[in-house]
Amino acid sequence: MSLPVPTVSIPTIEIAGSEERFPARRIYCVGRNYMAHIRETGNDEREPPFFFQKPADALVLDGGDFPYPSLSENVHHEIELVVAIGKAGRNIAPGDAHGHIFGYAVGLDMTRRDIQGVAKEMRRPWEAGKSFDHAAPCSPIVPAADIGHPETGAIWLKVNGELRQEADLSHQIWNVPESIAHLSELFELVPGDLIFTGTPSGVGPVHPGDVMEGGIEGIGELRVRVV
Ligand code: MN
Repeated sequence: MSLPVPTVSIPTIEIAGSEERFPARRIYCVGRNYMAHIRETGNDEREPPFFFQKPADALVLDGGDFPYPSLSENVHHEIELVVAIGKAGRNIAPGDAHGHIFGYAVGLDMTRRDIQGVAKEMRRPWEAGKSFDHAAPCSPIVPAADIGHPETGAIWLKVNGELRQEADLSHQIWNVPESIAHLSELFELVPGDLIFTGTPSGVGPVHPGDVMEGGIEGIGELRVRVV
């Protein structure tokens, strides 16, 4: 078969303590999953979870930099627990969800907040605010086989050494099994899928030259420079 244009290879994510890498398929993101973040953005506290996607080629991996995106003057960090799916499924019951998880990572759901705000006001899709190039920095994945399935643990983000976001995984409104249950009613989950599970409060702007450092207790840390 000859192809008239070059193919792109799918991104692969480092697996902590392994020579193997995790092939990324889709990135799903959970909107509004910590009460304090819902309050800081003035949204309805009783809504069921909702989801949006980023393209897998938006991942920033292996200590890469985050290039400040075009056409925005208000780009925000959102530190998030990332779930890596290892087994396919649809209509997954919460009690079965852990069996579909390969591992966990630390991610940043980078957001053009000004463009997202206009999209919300005009009832337009969020793509330009959420799904732009380099919008998904992600740490190496730690296998659940090594660490189990953390339900508590500190999640935090510093910008230039200053603490901006700090919460605990137990503060999630929809925990990981519940998010997988809801998401798998909408889409068949497939090995390689990643789920960014929402951010706690404290989101805010970054600027070129800033260094974002975040982590989740028991999972790992992520350091990304804004360039
Ligand atoms: Mn988010």
